[in-house]
Amino acid sequence: IIEVDNLKKSFGENIVLKDISFNVKKSEKVVLIGPSGGGKSTLLRCLNRLEDDYEGKVLFEGENVNGASKEKLRVLRQKMGMVFQQFNLFPHKTVLENITFSPIKLKLEAPKIAVAHAHELLKQVGLSEKAAAYPQSLSGGQQQRVAIARALAMRPEVMLFDEPTSALDPEMVGDVLDVMEGLAKDGMTMIIVTHEMSFAQNIADKVLFMNDGMIADSGTAEYIFKKTNNTRTRAFLSKVM
Ligand code: ATP
Ligand code: MG
Repeated sequence: IIEVDNLKKSFGENIVLKDISFNVKKSEKVVLIGPSGGGKSTLLRCLNRLEDDYEGKVLFEGENVNGASKEKLRVLRQKMGMVFQQFNLFPHKTVLENITFSPIKLKLEAPKIAVAHAHELLKQVGLSEKAAAYPQSLSGGQQQRVAIARALAMRPEVMLFDEPTSALDPEMVGDVLDVMEGLAKDGMTMIIVTHEMSFAQNIADKVLFMNDGMIADSGTAEYIFKKTNNTRTRAFLSKVM
């Protein structure tokens, strides 16, 4: 569903992605790990063209992301949901309005259907009773689950997660990871940047270890966490596990 070929990205003199190639198949869970500054966020942002000006190719469902017209780009972003470390909910809208806002505005769904869908999604993320609440009255973990529901409201085909739990208090992390695990079980295609290594180990079909702008090592969770002889991977894992 996603193919990346020889992707290179620089910010001025700083070459941030050096020569990245990988692909993601439908329903696959790909986890990106690696040290800070290695280029994980930049890579995710290239996939849905929050970054452009890169060399190489990114294909989504066989179509070139880089060459996409405005209209195509809108559809692309709709098909690739993204969840960030910071939840960025609309503070002056209720939870329900946060979730229904985009599908209604973009006329993807009639308001009644969008609202019904939002209630379903709130149930899915365990927040049925919070539909009328405002974001600031929710905990960080609850806000992040709303952010996930909001992304799902667009009926995406792929979900991108950039450290969705790293801004949360430890006791909130589990609830968010549970929601992500549920999504995985339902067959969602997912690309996840995370420092939660036991979660990564459980969920990943494929792990990419990114270091210094390159995929320095990659393979199954079993390979990366147990078998690899790559000294950089091992050094990184021994620091974070
Ligand atoms: P972290 O684990 O800390 O989130 P990361 O692996 O996500 O790190 P990136 O955020 O992708 O790393 O950053 C990779 C490099 O790109 C860093 O050197 C960073 O300073 C640089 N960089 C990222 N975004 C920009 C930008 N908008 N302008 C200039 N440099 C940037
Ligand atoms: Mg990052």
